[in-house]
Amino acid sequence: MDAKWREMEENKVMTRIEQARATRIGNGVRDDEEHVMISALEHYAYCPRQCALIHIEQTFDENIYTVRGTQAHERVDEAITRAERGVRVERGLPLWSRRLGLVGRADVVEFHGEAGETPYPVEYKSGKRREWRYEAIQVCAQGMCLEEMLGSAVPAGAVYYIGSRVRREVEFTSELRAAVEQMTEAVRGMLQIGKLPVAPDDQRCLKCSLLNSCLPAAVARPGRLLAYQRALFVPQPEGTMASAKSGFD
Ligand code: SF4
Repeated sequence: MDAKWREMEENKVMTRIEQARATRIGNGVRDDEEHVMISALEHYAYCPRQCALIHIEQTFDENIYTVRGTQAHERVDEAITRAERGVRVERGLPLWSRRLGLVGRADVVEFHGEAGETPYPVEYKSGKRREWRYEAIQVCAQGMCLEEMLGSAVPAGAVYYIGSRVRREVEFTSELRAAVEQMTEAVRGMLQIGKLPVAPDDQRCLKCSLLNSCLPAAVARPGRLLAYQRALFVPQPEGTMASAKSGFD
């Protein structure tokens, strides 16, 4: 390979990365009508109501899974550039797509290829290796942002599981890209309406940090919620509490 060509390609990519770091877009931007946070796609894919609680109502509770997640990101949050095992690595790179209206931040972007011309996003997660689709959607959205920002094809990325120290490679197929686009529109629509979706009240709730704020068992059954409200806020004649309680079942 021509050394001069390689140097030119490397410089080209570096210039685009420096521009990305310097730009206002992607640095501290929050959800609004124009921008959807990439993390919101992951939340929405897990549970639309969880996404709404976090991104509309700004609700955030900790549980063991969120604490582990925060710890997983501590090492990669610092914005730095360096070479690791001969591969240039960017940590904490701001991401955005004007076309999709997405913003976020990459844990790690590696630059593969002879001249480092192929960005490869890596999302860090706590826990053991798994095949969760919502994590694939998150890393694919990062890849789509990098394509637009850097003008380079991004065919794949990875999720790195700290608990088992392995990577799961994610190919950015046309089907996965379409899912990112559809989900971005769905989240944007939900943000614009500003209402909480219904609670699915299923297995997902067991691991959800927002369980105590969401109260899925109560809100998923409107009859039960009405009975709670009536018992709490409507004065009942003496001796009638038993009938109010019957609505809790
Ligand atoms: S508790 Fe269940 S319904 Fe509520 S936000 Fe979490 S996963 Fe969704």
